[in-house]
Amino acid sequence: MTLRIRKLIVIGIIGVVFMAGNILVIANWLAAKGIPEKANWIRENFLTGTAITVIIALLILLVNPGRTESNIGQHRCPVCDKKMTGNSNYCSECGCKVA
Ligand SMILES: [Zn+2]
Repeated sequence: MTLRIRKLIVIGIIGVVFMAGNILVIANWLAAKGIPEKANWIRENFLTGTAITVIIALLILLVNPGRTESNIGQHRCPVCDKKMTGNSNYCSECGCKVA
């Protein structure tokens, strides 16, 4: 975890707390802009039960191609994804330990 990620997490937490504290103000502002009506219209017209099912099925089927290849039996380094040869516990490319 780098310092930049930690800073982003702190800023994100502050943002979430601020949003939660002003949730009614934000909700009223969204209602005044007519966004809930538009979102409801989009949901009724485009996000039917079938469409949501298809989207979820695609998300499940779209697996990382590198992962499927490594499951066939090829031993791969978890850090640099290089093919491993022999029974060495250390990657020849990046030197990291492979348990
Ligand atoms: Zn490696």
